[in-house]
Amino acid sequence: MIIVLLGPPGAGKGTQAKQIQARYNVAHISTGDLFRAALGENSDLGRKVKSYLESGQLVPDDVTCAMVAQRVAKPDCARGFMLDGFPRTLVQAGALDKLLASLKLKLDAVLYFDVTEATAIERLGGRLTCKCGAGYHIKYMPPKKASTCDKCGAKLVQRADDMPDTIRERLRVYEKQTAALIEEYKRRKLLRRIDANVAPEAVTAGVVVELDKL
Ligand code: AMP
Repeated sequence: MIIVLLGPPGAGKGTQAKQIQARYNVAHISTGDLFRAALGENSDLGRKVKSYLESGQLVPDDVTCAMVAQRVAKPDCARGFMLDGFPRTLVQAGALDKLLASLKLKLDAVLYFDVTEATAIERLGGRLTCKCGAGYHIKYMPPKKASTCDKCGAKLVQRADDMPDTIRERLRVYEKQTAALIEEYKRRKLLRRIDANVAPEAVTAGVVVELDKL
């Protein structure tokens, strides 16, 4: 199974990706996570993408597509994979088509997490993350002890790009560069709309209905 998770920042794609990974046993490829890991390691890639991530702008297509091509070649992707946060431009969508064709694979579906801007802003603004990968929300999924990870006890942090100005910029970038993909995948009859304004469990139920059809 090869799927794309599409939707604005704050649509809950990461939370749903964890559920999908557990249920369907596909690799989870989050370009945002890969870039953040590179930043954390201060690798060549990390230094190259730092300013884009900090300002909420998209990393150039060539850098992003090369990173995805490398990731997809790893053995865990042989059983199928889900792309979370990629493609984000029409150029990236074209690059994905070429990559899949070269691997003799095909895209099965694009799950579009449809969410209002107000919900997206509320979710992003309250999000807390841990370096172990666990995620929380101040209001909807608070940690048992304030600012502390339930799983590993480390101090929780707010992602630098979850600050109000950067949130607004990321949503603007989404509208300008990524929203066009909705029409593109609708035209190709790959788009499956999921109502993402509801509680996470209800969103997962919608996802399962769609993925069980594949
Ligand atoms: P995310 O965690 O998906 O919101 O991504 C965080 C940041 O990583 C974005 O604001 C971009 O700077 C960068 N990024 C992630 N995915 C992509 C992509 N497909 N194309 C370009 N930049 C990306």
